[in-house]
Amino acid sequence: MNTLTSQQLFEKAQHYIPGGVNSPVRAFRAVGGSPVFIKSAKGPYIYDEDGNEYIELINSWGPMILGHAHELIQKAVQDAIQHSFSFGAPTRREVEMAEQIVSMVPSIEKVRMVNSGTEATMSAIRVARGFTGRDKIIKFEGCYHGHGDSFLIAAGSGAVTFGTPDSPGVTRGVANDTLTAPYNDLNAVQQLVDANKNHIAALILEPVVGNMGCVLPEEGFLQGLRKICDEEGIVLILDEVMTGFRLSKGGAQERFGITPDLTTLGKIIGGGMPVGAYGGKAEIMNWVSPAGPVYQAGTLSGNPIAMAAGLAMLNYLNEHPEVYTRLEEAGKRLASGFRTSMQKLGLNYTLNQIGSMYTLFFTDQPVTDFSAAKSSDLILFGKYFHAMLNKGIYMGPSQFESMFLSTALTDGHIDTIVSANEESLKEILS
Ligand code: PLP
Repeated sequence: MNTLTSQQLFEKAQHYIPGGVNSPVRAFRAVGGSPVFIKSAKGPYIYDEDGNEYIELINSWGPMILGHAHELIQKAVQDAIQHSFSFGAPTRREVEMAEQIVSMVPSIEKVRMVNSGTEATMSAIRVARGFTGRDKIIKFEGCYHGHGDSFLIAAGSGAVTFGTPDSPGVTRGVANDTLTAPYNDLNAVQQLVDANKNHIAALILEPVVGNMGCVLPEEGFLQGLRKICDEEGIVLILDEVMTGFRLSKGGAQERFGITPDLTTLGKIIGGGMPVGAYGGKAEIMNWVSPAGPVYQAGTLSGNPIAMAAGLAMLNYLNEHPEVYTRLEEAGKRLASGFRTSMQKLGLNYTLNQIGSMYTLFFTDQPVTDFSAAKSSDLILFGKYFHAMLNKGIYMGPSQFESMFLSTALTDGHIDTIVSANEESLKEILS
């Protein structure tokens, strides 16, 4: 495969952009080699600067549920740009967008639009702190909630220790207010809560994790967290930046029957434009300025182009339940194909899949938390990634990412991915 133009662009990019990219994972550091530079995408395909065509499994890390450049969203954006690009003033579409989100996600009574998932999670914990009058939060090891200081915290050495900063630039003071527990470990959460009575404002998690690879909540985990939060007056925040409107019309919370106090959303509600949102119980959201004293603002928040794209997407999802039937079918077909191939090849790698999200972990341990995910053979994953790329399959360049299917993928595309997977496994193990 010729990727010369991409390589030249990457070389130049490194002179002007830190690491040559505007978001770290894009640099391919986890898998080696040089990233492909993307020129365009349509439906199930993405094209690089050298003209190579790939089947899309990243889908902009989630939002392209309907595939790339869907006509409906293109038209909504084209119509919207006739009326200028930003007003910094309220618009009709923001009201329609809020109404649509509230109607599709029953736990959300009021919602505030922001510009990214990071802003959504930062703002959600701020209002939770304002509302409870408490400082600390609990997050789970391996869950990613954007790059806000409070979330860049590694686990301490024991379940009840305070966090330490994961990145230079995050102060110890901030880190001290973030407590971490292993995913799917209710006991660890209970211990943290017992050791920090009346100090924990919020507990935040991905209800299905996409950011240590795809990891599912075990039976009773989400309900157990809901109970602990109720008993202790802790605000339960579900970060549905990846799962919202993807795992069902009402997100993972609808699928698993769990009602959070606050929800964070992103990506999908912009149809690919830069957007995020946080919302939930009115009694908490009424603390947000100007209704209440917790300050949060944004010049570009509720941007008219992003609202037009997002609203077109949400309206479509709301009116077309067959989207979710298709995503389920596609996910099952892929998983069953992968499992058959592994059986044929005598391999026992762990495949985690739910609906249109999946990760093949290069470990034979069940992957229910970050330490199990980290038992994967990362060198082998790197080889697998490049083998798939060479066969025209565009995957997330890290073992610790979920893949995202779209409705633009036909059974034929899924079968191509399954064959490429089998061939790649054979190749890397021979
Ligand atoms: N929360 C989750 C679950 C995410 O997956 C991400 C990004 O991938 C974020 C928050 C941050 O969103 P953004 O990259 O839009 O800031």
